Amino acid sequence: MTKKNRVGIMGGTFDPIHYGHLVTAEAARINFNLDEVIFTPTGNPPHKKDYAVTSAEHRYLMTALAINDNPFFKVSRVEIDRKGYTYTVDTLRYFAREYGNDTALFFISGADAILDILTWKDVREVLSMCTFIAATRPGYPMDKLKQKLQEIKRLYNSEVYPMEVTGMDISSTEIRRRVREGLSIKYLLPESIEKYIKKHGIYR
Ligand code: NAP
Repeated sequence: MTKKNRVGIMGGTFDPIHYGHLVTAEAARINFNLDEVIFTPTGNPPHKKDYAVTSAEHRYLMTALAINDNPFFKVSRVEIDRKGYTYTVDTLRYFAREYGNDTALFFISGADAILDILTWKDVREVLSMCTFIAATRPGYPMDKLKQKLQEIKRLYNSEVYPMEVTGMDISSTEIRRRVREGLSIKYLLPESIEKYIKKHGIYR
């Protein structure tokens, strides 16, 4: 049965959010005919990071600033207000409750994150609750991704859609490095975020 509403959940650490994320969310909105996209910054991610993740409050505020001028974009505190680790399954359960049965959920994130999905908590439920959209940067090894997507299809009978995003040639890692080394980050993210990073001395 076709559902009445279509809502995208844009999951990511967003440390910091940049134009690549914004372009990805807009492309997903258009390609998948979504009514809105809810940016959902991670709280305390269960998977290890090789760097100290910036406080959830800073990442939330930068995200809120970045999406401010797009009426189809929203930001949610659901993960950053959750105590303990944040698992996508809990987030999907939350949005499924909020939006009800008439809404089809789409989870948008980076292909590298989604490649690991078979290790996520309650993967069967996760895959049954939404449609996954895996965003890739130009030059991404699509063979590896397609192999994984076939494996997911075989194991769980679930479709994950790859989406190549031309403007995704920006990364949060690169932005953090540039700030640390005193290089310009102009035109990689909205000016409001650049100012926020400078004002709060983040990534130095
Ligand atoms: P990550 O490992 O920091 O990012 C992996 C790659 O994907 C990076 O290249 C990253 O680029 C890109 N990326 C991340 N979010 C993106 C987005 N929304 N759109 C386009 N590219 C994106 O991944 P993460 O941010 O920690 O996790 C991504 C999502 O998966 C989060 O919502 C997280 O909660 C979920 N997740 C859940 C579980 C679980 O439930 N067990 C485990 C792992 C991840 P940038 O660095 O430039 O963003």
